[in-house]
Amino acid sequence: MKAFTELERKQYTNVWVIAEVLSGKIQKVTYELIGVARELADSRNSEVWAIILNSQLEEDMESIFIHGANVAMVAGNPVLSGFNDEVEANILKKLIDKYKPEVVLCGATSRGRALIPRVAVMTHSGLTADCTRLSIDVVNGDLLQTRPAFGGNIMATIRCSNYRPQMATVRPRVMRVLEPDYTRKGRVIKEEILSTDVKKLKRIIRIQHDDETDVNLADARIIISGGRGLKGKRGFDLLKRLAEKMEGAAMGASRAAVDAGWVSYSHQVGQTGQTVQTKVYIACGISGQIQHLVGMQSCDLIIAIDQNPDTPMMQIADIAVVGDLFEIIPEIICQIDEYNNQN
Ligand SMILES: Cc1cc2nc3c(=O)[nH]c(=O)nc-3n(C[C@H](O)[C@H](O)[C@H](O)COP(=O)(O)OP(=O)(O)OC[C@H]3O[C@@H](n4cnc5c(N)ncnc54)[C@H](O)[C@@H]3O)c2cc1C
Repeated sequence: MKAFTELERKQYTNVWVIAEVLSGKIQKVTYELIGVARELADSRNSEVWAIILNSQLEEDMESIFIHGANVAMVAGNPVLSGFNDEVEANILKKLIDKYKPEVVLCGATSRGRALIPRVAVMTHSGLTADCTRLSIDVVNGDLLQTRPAFGGNIMATIRCSNYRPQMATVRPRVMRVLEPDYTRKGRVIKEEILSTDVKKLKRIIRIQHDDETDVNLADARIIISGGRGLKGKRGFDLLKRLAEKMEGAAMGASRAAVDAGWVSYSHQVGQTGQTVQTKVYIACGISGQIQHLVGMQSCDLIIAIDQNPDTPMMQIADIAVVGDLFEIIPEIICQIDEYNNQN
């Protein structure tokens, strides 16, 4: 297919966010994407559209507008209440052909990962997965899509200049949600879905799994993470004791600790683990290789404890504590106990 001419490229405008809806509720990743979409759209004097492929939404659209979207486009049909990637891809292709967005963003969630590559193939668009930063070339509208490459050893910035729209997925908790602005108003566009769009419906089976080894790092306010410096399972028992003393705290880990079998994979933070964005992140004996940093560098306050002051983690930390973990962690536990006894 021939590259688009400048004239063809100019027909594409606005930044779309494909909303993630689960059980009738808009998920937080949608607001995170709207936040970054707002910045991109402002640079291009264009609009942010949230695309909602679900008629079972139980919320009103106000939350979308106050967080930065100009338009909520609802392409509804009761059969869409369960996710079906083939059906949604067909509908999205039709909407893209009709409205011509310049940029389409989607969460790098299991739903987004199933949906968006299909759409990219159908629309001949470039797609960059798992972006950690997005900006836009204000002159020609090229999306600058930054993501870790070559095993996380470099950060690559990718442009897909030849076609429109430009598509990217972004992991949850990488971008920030904008503060709500209650003066913002938006408009709702309803798109009718024809029965031919949904004819390929598969049966959807939902499996809810409730494994006690699962850790909810996403909802934690504080994450206390351990790495190879903890030296074994006993080190993680110590870390667990500390986490239990702090309200809203969960225990994270580096891949080195997970690979060593000291703690389960559900604790892993980083490129091949979870991305977290907590108020406080305490890294204990984690050197801070890029593959770990990409998963936690957006946390508000980073505290690092390490015997080596020169590690990347100690360099990026807001508070860097130099010393032996096996002396420092028991001391913190003692201090918390003393404080609790006095209050
Ligand atoms: C494709 C790919 C994907 C990856 N994905 C991830 C990922 O998702 N998450 C991840 O974490 N890694 C990931 N990695 C691995 C990553 O490159 C590092 O190997 C790993 O993060 C190192 O873990 P660590 O910091 O715990 O160990 P180390 O780098 O060995 O650091 C241990 C630290 O503990 C300190 N220490 C030791 N003893 C003490 C003590 N007594 N007191 C205080 N400090 C002490 C040391 O000074 C050191 O700084 C990935 C790698 C690849 C190639």
